[in-house]
Amino acid sequence: MTRRAIFLDRDGTLNVDVGFTHRVEDLVLEANVGAGLRHLQALGFELIITTNQSGIARGHFSEAEMHAFNEALCDLLTGGGIRIAGIYHCPFHPTAGRGSYRRESELRKPRPGMLLTAASEHRIDLASSFAIGDRLSDVLAGQAAGCRSILVQTGMAGRDEPHLTAEPDFVAADLADAARWVERVLHRRRDAPVLGSVHLAGFSHLTAGRGVAW
Ligand SMILES: [Mg+2]
Repeated sequence: MTRRAIFLDRDGTLNVDVGFTHRVEDLVLEANVGAGLRHLQALGFELIITTNQSGIARGHFSEAEMHAFNEALCDLLTGGGIRIAGIYHCPFHPTAGRGSYRRESELRKPRPGMLLTAASEHRIDLASSFAIGDRLSDVLAGQAAGCRSILVQTGMAGRDEPHLTAEPDFVAADLADAARWVERVLHRRRDAPVLGSVHLAGFSHLTAGRGVAW
């Protein structure tokens, strides 16, 4: 049986992004995250977090502090009946990092390294999977990994990276809206509100080219 995943960005997608978010006391979920994740889980997806954490490279917080925040996030989600299968992070930054953290990395979104590593370790079929995030770099990383991608209009809502251009397969109001679209894709409903003919053509190509059986 094919295992499929939702690759979830963290800050601005799951939790409210206060800027280099790392304090457990700042942990607040974005709107409708619990409902969205439960819906995606019920559709049979593994839930995997992939998160750029350049605050580590910049010296704003330690890897241990990030792990403590992640643990608190997972505890909160577990209380809502949600299981996170894995968390992958990139601590590096190519220009602002200190010491050994200053480097290019295939892990750093928009590159797909975290998703590819997670897919390998969890035996995930990328063509049956989706990436969800609030930045265009999340969309690009998902597409580079061979997933469909969804931009959520929480957090940065795709407005923070003017140097990037990306066309998500769907723009969702929030995670619950994203989950409803994923279900429509699974059911091959023709009324799925894919954004325009360009996306529709790309979607058809992806489906046909990869031989995805939903
Ligand atoms: Mg984000």
